[in-house]
Amino acid sequence: GASGRLVVISNRVPLPAKDGNSSAGGLAVALEAALKQHGGLWFGWSGRTVDQVENAPQIIEAGKITFAVLDVHRKDFDLFYTGFANRALWPICHYRLDLLQVDRSQTEGYFRVNRTFAEALAPLLGPDDTIWIHDYHFIPLAAELRRLGCRNRIGFFLHIPWPPSDIASALPAYGRLQNGFTAYDLVGFHTKQDADNFRQCLLRENLGFPVGDGEYQVGGHRFRIGAFPVGIDADAFAETARAAERNPTVRRMRESMEKRRLIIGVDRLDYSKGIKERIESYSCFIRSNPQFRNKVVYLQVTPKSRSDVPEYKRMQHQIAEQAGWANGNLGEVDWTPIRYINKTIGHMALAGLYRMARVGLVTPLRDGMNLVAKEFVAAQDENDPGVLILSRFAGAMHELDAALLVNPYDTETTAAAIARALEMPLEERRERWRTMMDRLRGNGIDDWCQGFLDVLTSGKSPVPPPQ
Ligand code: UDP
Repeated sequence: GASGRLVVISNRVPLPAKDGNSSAGGLAVALEAALKQHGGLWFGWSGRTVDQVENAPQIIEAGKITFAVLDVHRKDFDLFYTGFANRALWPICHYRLDLLQVDRSQTEGYFRVNRTFAEALAPLLGPDDTIWIHDYHFIPLAAELRRLGCRNRIGFFLHIPWPPSDIASALPAYGRLQNGFTAYDLVGFHTKQDADNFRQCLLRENLGFPVGDGEYQVGGHRFRIGAFPVGIDADAFAETARAAERNPTVRRMRESMEKRRLIIGVDRLDYSKGIKERIESYSCFIRSNPQFRNKVVYLQVTPKSRSDVPEYKRMQHQIAEQAGWANGNLGEVDWTPIRYINKTIGHMALAGLYRMARVGLVTPLRDGMNLVAKEFVAAQDENDPGVLILSRFAGAMHELDAALLVNPYDTETTAAAIARALEMPLEERRERWRTMMDRLRGNGIDDWCQGFLDVLTSGKSPVPPPQ
């Protein structure tokens, strides 16, 4: 109904911070805009784990937005987040069956935490509220809310990929998750490919059959599936990038470059990002293009992420060692080929670094969207734009197909793309940039929010995104 609020649920809630608290994920950036516009309630985890749990969430009023956050029991959090979400769902959704950890107590912890969140949220809901649940931490939340009698419209958006059914169904909890999905009114993904994979899962499990006009039905319940590629505010980001030329970090970087050209990579330390393969490709590029020795610098900005998860801890060592080896083998007394940095860089400085770069290397092995690719394009100087090298396995490739698309597993071809990017004539760089920038302008962050919410509240069929 028109009088209801928007209720957003996500694991991390960007509370009106006393200071700092900038999380590196794309999710927080995207949602802040939506709630400011609509007003309403933002519900999620408090960021605290405790030994004694209160059942009522903490409420913080901040202008048009009410925040309600819940502490989670320390043991439950390990099972729910570090365990099932990040060691089972994350690898599965990124097509990494080899990294899947199956653990029954983690699975139970995940469903239990979802129930606890539903029980804390239910009393805060009004009958006309529209509910929008985000990401893989909360797939069963709608089913739990329904169990408590909630009849509101509930939408779900998955910020990571959804794999083909043969991969997804390897999860022992697959059936329970699929049932969880069908409690929503709308399930949204970044790309048509993810949405198609999901439809395939439903059909194979007999969990919903198409009833026309894009609707699916299971039991007496009808729901929709759609693709809603998340965007960025490209013009605002371009403005930030222009202003960032005076940023101290950006200045220091420029001075340290001397006459060399910058190649940049920016990724959380995550096995889905293809950092290992990228360093390999860059090394191959240097070995096979000696004319670029000491003429380029590759800056890889890689904040540590999920260090509690063993697969991530292992990777921290592997990548650091690999970058060290590459520098040892390729470097000169006056040239460090790779600058590898494990800290978060703020948006302003990052925008300036993108703009300074001649090449953006965005080569995930699998990524839901990848906002870095979009930010890199938006940050460029239109008179002398840098070149985006983009993995064909990033969701962003559907909109940014004017980038140099690569298969990140193919070391030699990716290396050749780096050489091609550095040698690309100005006219071609401009042409590709203009095409990509137009696409970004046509699908801003507001379009994404409105697009999803329009379908959720109207019950109309989603408009398929250009692919
Ligand atoms: N980011 C940042 N500082 C860093 C590294 C990343 O602000 O040091 C931001 C980056 O600008 C982007 C987001 O973190 O907005 C990463 O989103 P993306 O979709 O590329 O990847 P995710 O981390 O969500 O998998």
